[in-house]
Amino acid sequence: MKRKASGTGTSSSVNESNDIPPPSSSPTMLTEADLNDLPWDPSERKRISEYHPDQRDEIRKQYLIKGPCQPRGHTFPWRIIGNKKRRFNPAWFNQFSDWLEYSVKVDKAFCLCCYLFKDHVSKQGGCDTFVTEGFNSWNKTERLSLHMGSANSLHNKALKKCEEFMKQDDSIAVAIQNKNNFVKNGYQIQSSPSKSTTTRNNTALLVIDMQNDFVLEDAPLRVDGGLAIVPNVVKAVEVARQQGFLVVWVVREHDPMGRDVEVFRRHLYGDGKAKPTSKGSKGAELVDGLIIKEGDYKVVKTRFSAFFATNLHSFLQGAGIDSLVAVGVQTPNCIRQSVFDAVELDYKSVTVIVDATAAATPDVHAANVNDMKNIGVAAPTLKEWCEFSSSNT
Ligand SMILES: [Zn+2]
Repeated sequence: MKRKASGTGTSSSVNESNDIPPPSSSPTMLTEADLNDLPWDPSERKRISEYHPDQRDEIRKQYLIKGPCQPRGHTFPWRIIGNKKRRFNPAWFNQFSDWLEYSVKVDKAFCLCCYLFKDHVSKQGGCDTFVTEGFNSWNKTERLSLHMGSANSLHNKALKKCEEFMKQDDSIAVAIQNKNNFVKNGYQIQSSPSKSTTTRNNTALLVIDMQNDFVLEDAPLRVDGGLAIVPNVVKAVEVARQQGFLVVWVVREHDPMGRDVEVFRRHLYGDGKAKPTSKGSKGAELVDGLIIKEGDYKVVKTRFSAFFATNLHSFLQGAGIDSLVAVGVQTPNCIRQSVFDAVELDYKSVTVIVDATAAATPDVHAANVNDMKNIGVAAPTLKEWCEFSSSNT
């Protein structure tokens, strides 16, 4: 099921009267596609000309609504090219945001608009690196700019076709307006800049349990990786404020006698005990560098999940929030529980910033991030998330 260089299209419908059949076409059966199950990974797509002519516009529409396949949270593999370690750089998604695609499956780059319309605008059809084979010469990144070429290049003609196509059909603009910025399987997508929707007003940053008793060196419930992520959490809060995202501080504050803490931790409370994050204590305060500001919201929880027995969900719904970004500690407990609940509650987009969250060990952290990715959570680094946030405004 690869994008193949040789097509089979011969017939044409009214819609497709301009479609030029690729070379070496043979009168074999054209495929009836299941429009609800179009392959998302660029390496797995068939050429548009291999689909039945009646379906081609609908297929183009679906891919345009989704936007280029840009899995920003992916761990892009290194390869030795020449004598150097190279890999796909997710910053290229910002540079070529309206067309560049990446296939996780084959570690190669593709072009969405050439995929959708190149056969349509080119008599040559046939083989093309960014449509059929995929590009992976990561040392020759100038090829990405070269691919776009001059105003009359095939790429730019195809791009123009995409724009015309989107203008013709109001439902595409509406669908893009409504779509979330992150999709299933950890693939983060972004529409073309002209159509992109800002997430300013519908995104909240959840800062979870960044309190002295969980983070500081001698804290009673210290999470080993906690202290190291403080600068990244500070930065994430700063970026969230710049972007106009709602900042929500999720903290534990317990009864000093431990009557509202999980049963397995109650022995830590009472006279002469450590009483972690008990109400009003120094240990319950946020670590240095994190400050609650006017307009932020604070949620006190007594369990792992920020949603368990709190008003968080109804508050977020009232505030029109449908996209969540989580930072803090610790990955296998409060982060994971909150994130799983957010997915269960149908938040359209749930993101965990992988280097602004932490666990006792890197292995535990990685395993839990992986579990979250498997339920459709995006897992970018802080840098990737910052780049995405600023490119999407
Ligand atoms: Zn192209």
